[in-house]
Amino acid sequence: MAIYTLPELPYDYAALEPVINPQIIELHHDKHHAAYVKGANDTLEQLEEARDKEAWGTINGLEKNLAFHLSGHILHSIYWNNMASPKGEGGGGEPLAADGVGELADAITESFGSFAKFKSQLTKASATTQGSGWGVLAYEPISGRLIVEQVYDHQGNVGQGSIPVLVFDAWEHAFYLQYKNQKVDFIEAMWQVVNWQDVNKRYQAAKASIPLISF
Ligand code: MN
Repeated sequence: MAIYTLPELPYDYAALEPVINPQIIELHHDKHHAAYVKGANDTLEQLEEARDKEAWGTINGLEKNLAFHLSGHILHSIYWNNMASPKGEGGGGEPLAADGVGELADAITESFGSFAKFKSQLTKASATTQGSGWGVLAYEPISGRLIVEQVYDHQGNVGQGSIPVLVFDAWEHAFYLQYKNQKVDFIEAMWQVVNWQDVNKRYQAAKASIPLISF
C-alpha cells in the first residue's frame, strides 16, 4: 500500500556543479531520500497493522518514525526543486522584481529588514545546526510573514502550520564528501544555486492557503 514515491530530480546529477558534486546528488537522492520514502510507507503499514491488532505497545516509536520519514520526504522534495544550476538561468543571486519575483523580494524585506539580513540569518541558522538538521525559510500564515526556522532532524523545532518555501539541508550527507567538516562553506555556497522562481512559486501558494485559526 505504498502511497509515497521518490520524485525524479528536475536536473541531472552534475547540474549543480561546482556547488554540489554529482556523487553527493546521486547518493543523496537515490539512497537517502529514497530511504525516507520507504520509511514513511513502511510506517503507515505498521500503523495499519497496529490498528488491526489493537497492538499499541510500539505507538511512540511509530509516531516518531512517521514524523521523521514523512518530514524527510517532504523537505527533500522541496530541496531538489529549490535549486537550479549556477551556470544556467535562475540559479543564485537575489530575488529581483525584474525577474518576476518582486513580491517575494518585498516580503523578505518586510519580514527581515533587508535581503542581506535574511541571508545572514538563514546562513547562520543552517550552519549552526547541532547534529542533523535544516535551515528553513517558512511562511507563517497567522501573521502573514516569513520566518527562519532551525529544524532538528527533519521534524523538530517547527512552528505548527508554517509552510517551508526554501530549505537548506545541513545534514552531513548533504556536503561531507565534498566539503568535509566545513559546513559553513557549504551553506554559503548554497546561495549560488537558489532557484528564486521556485521559491516565489511556493511563497505564492503558501500565501493563498487558508490561515489556520481565522475560523
Ligand atoms: Mn538530506
